[in-house]
This record gives sequence, C-alpha cells and structure tokens, in this order.
Amino acid sequence: MTPRHKTRPIKVGQLAVGGDNPVWVQSMTTTDPSDLEATMPQVQRLEEAGCELIRTSVLNEKQAAGLGKLKALMKVPLIADIHFNWRLAFDAIEQGVDKIRINPGNIGKDEKFLEVVRAAKANGVPMRIGVNSGSLEKRVLEKYGYPTPEGFVESALRYIDMCDQLGYDQIIVSLKSSDVRVAVEAYRLFGEKSDFPTHIGITEAGDPRYGSIKSAAGLGSILLAGVGNTIRVSLTGDPVVEIPVAFDILKATGVRITSPEIVACPTCGRIQIEMEPIVKYLEERMKGVKTPIRVSILGCVVNGPGEAAESDIGLAGGNGQAVIYRKGKIVRRVRQEEMLGAVMAEIESYLADQESSGVGATAPLHPLPLGEGRGEGVISPGITKSDAARP
Ligand code: SF4
Repeated sequence: MTPRHKTRPIKVGQLAVGGDNPVWVQSMTTTDPSDLEATMPQVQRLEEAGCELIRTSVLNEKQAAGLGKLKALMKVPLIADIHFNWRLAFDAIEQGVDKIRINPGNIGKDEKFLEVVRAAKANGVPMRIGVNSGSLEKRVLEKYGYPTPEGFVESALRYIDMCDQLGYDQIIVSLKSSDVRVAVEAYRLFGEKSDFPTHIGITEAGDPRYGSIKSAAGLGSILLAGVGNTIRVSLTGDPVVEIPVAFDILKATGVRITSPEIVACPTCGRIQIEMEPIVKYLEERMKGVKTPIRVSILGCVVNGPGEAAESDIGLAGGNGQAVIYRKGKIVRRVRQEEMLGAVMAEIESYLADQESSGVGATAPLHPLPLGEGRGEGVISPGITKSDAARP
C-alpha cells in the first residue's frame, strides 16, 4: 500500500489540515451568506451531517460584510470562496474568516495575488490556492497547450514560491479538474514534489448518482496514492448529500473510518438466506456507531467461510445453520433462526471491547428488537430463502 505523503499541518480555525490529522470533510453552502435566515439552516444541516469545514461563495461587498455574523453562529470553521474580485479577500479576512480560497489564475496580475497574500499573512489567515483547469494561468496553458497535470503542478509550485518570497506558508493547495485522469495525476505529482497539504476534489462531478461514482473513482485514486488532507465531493443539488458520500469514500479507501462497514455478498443463485433485510437490520442497529468495525454477511457456504473470516465479525449462513466468526476465528455455530441474535451479540461484545481499549466512540446500538424491520417488512430471525438453489 502507498503510504500517506507527509504534509505539514495548517491551522484552519480549530482544526489543522495536513500532518497526522484526519482527512476532513467539507462542503459549500448554496445561499447568500449575508442572508442568515437562508444560510444558517443549511449550515446546521451540514454540521449535523458531519461536515467539518464549510465554505461559502462571496460574490460582492454586501456578502463579504456578513461573514463575521455568519461565522459567529457556526460550529465549524468558515472558508470564504473568492473568485475574480480579489478585493473581497480583504473584506473576508477583516471579517475573521478561518480561511480564504482563491484561484490566482482568475484574479489577474500576480501583484493582486501578492496583495492578498500580504493581507493573509498580516492577519494569520490560511489560504487555499486553487489551480483549476478553468483558471489555469495563461503562460502555463501556452507552454503545455492544454491543462496538463504537469502544468497544474508547475503553476501551484510557482504560486507557492511567490508566497515563500513573502514569508507566507499557511497554504493548502487544490488541483481540480473535471477530468478524473488529469486530477489524479496532478495530485499524485504534487504529492511527490511538495509537503503542503491538499484539498482534493473533482469539479462538476454531476448529479448525485454519477457524481458519486466519478468522485469515488477520482478521489479514491488520489487518496490511495497517499494524497489528500481535506475532501469535498461536488454533487449537483443539496450539499448535505455530499457528506455521507465523502465519508464513504474515506471508508472504502481505508483512509478514515468513522462508521461500521457492512460487507454483504452480492447474492446469486446459491443464496440461502434473505440478504437485504439482514443488511438493513444491521445498518439500522449500528446507526450512530462511530467505532471502526467490519461486518461481513455471506449468503451461502461456498464463499461464505473464507470471506466472513476476513472481517472483524463475520456470518456465513446456509443449510439451516450459520457460522459466526470474530477476527477470522469461528466463535459460534447456531441454527439459522438464531443467527441474527448471535451476530448482534458478537458485534455488541466486539464494540464493547474496542471501546474499553479506547478505539472510537461507541454510540449505543440502536434498540431495534429482532422481529421488527422497516420498509419492506418484518425481519425475522429465522430468515431462510426456502426456494434457494442448494450448492
Ligand atoms: S457468498 Fe454464496 S450466495 Fe453470496 S454471492 Fe457468493 S456464492 Fe453467491
């Protein structure tokens, strides 16, 4: 496995981005930040969903002037997103935002960027330097002909160097493209050349379905290359939807696990138990659990034992019985009608052991009793697919 690239920590409000800190999840509001009635409900929903940094677009002086009031009501750090009108960065800094984001490529001459850097330095405010395919500086575009990963990195390093000349190093870098291949390569190259932390994202990923897949492909590849210190999944529509997707990408890549992972076999003609209600039941019961735990549910004895054995807790069902595994060892064999109770007991015991050894913060298991389900109907402990093909 590729180790995580070493980066320096950059303080953003009460968080630090980079270093050994977790990869923080962030998103953006879609409202006028000076309209607190419209913005605060969105901020609160984002915070409740687990968003750890919130960015807001700042389009004019009026919006910039409202940032202080907004920040005072927020629990998480506030980032001001400035494009084109570079002077708004001064207003945002004055309002006490926790970070500013600018794309030097779209604010014009270098001197304007340097002015912003001076202001950020004087006020101790960190800055994200964004290098986007849409705002790549002209000289780089002319050199490479189109936005290449090498061009992205060259541009980012040049801006970093300009900051360095002014003695400013509170920098986080993003290298965003809507082309997954370009973005992945750009972040990978940047990770090799710099120890500044990165904000990772795939721009304009799209509607929630395709956008989640594109984000998983792109952000997952960047994370697996050892790069990325804060993540934003860009999906069209309500930004709250982005948060669970971001956490799931972090979980799937093993970079940051903040909730249980339930691994279920895809099912096939050999299935001997009703998989979907079992998975739903376990998801419901473990809602709110923050401890990393991997639970595998396999529907037959063909692949079941091998795969169940690889998880923290595993269940392989079929032929009227079920085997429960813990860390690869068989801990119980039960009748099929007892398997849900047995696997829940094992999960409970595992979580308690993890909590007592200081791993994670375990919320109590949701008290959904056996025999009660949601949606399609009752989950019964004796789930047997009677018409299943026998292996
Ligand atoms: S574990 Fe068994 S039921 Fe599930 S997909 Fe594999 S072979 Fe099919």
